[in-house]
Amino acid sequence: MTDWISLIRDVPDYPKPGILFKDITPLLADHAAFTQVVDGLAAGYAFDKVVGIEARGFILAAPVAIRCAAGFVPIRKKGKLPAETISASYDLEYGSATVEVHADAFAPGERVLVVDDVLATGGTAAAAVDLVRRAGAQVVAVSFLMELSFLAGREKLAGLDVRSLVTV
Ligand code: AMP
Repeated sequence: MTDWISLIRDVPDYPKPGILFKDITPLLADHAAFTQVVDGLAAGYAFDKVVGIEARGFILAAPVAIRCAAGFVPIRKKGKLPAETISASYDLEYGSATVEVHADAFAPGERVLVVDDVLATGGTAAAAVDLVRRAGAQVVAVSFLMELSFLAGREKLAGLDVRSLVTV
């Protein structure tokens, strides 16, 4: 077993003072660690689609989709998807953000796993869950590589099966 947790690098004061950024690039660069994390995120239920949240969620969700024999669906920042979209806005510490999914990304009732690298305040993941539901699919689980429990993001995902490979 690779100690993949030690390959997540803490970068202080990025992208702004006071934030301790969890940099997963050393983990991604290690084949054994990356494989272990993808296998961990893919374990469990069966899914029809795996949703990745831009941008680091894409890197994890695409191989998880292959492992789950599921399709991959991107949730992107506003204005990046070319066809008809559904949008959700949510509050950030300063200001707000909007994410989008293609309106035809899911067949009705499809079983979906939402994947992102870090669960912080939960706003991004909650918006992704809202989009999947409004697009007609069901969220079976939401999986993160790392959960920052002191930010209580899990509270915004109440009632959902929320999994984290590691919690700090
Ligand atoms: P939030 O909506 O607050 O849960 O933030 C989640 C999004 O921001 C995820 O897409 C993460 O990739 C990113 N994020 C938030 N905080 C951190 C952090 N400390 N280190 C790395 N990424 C973070």
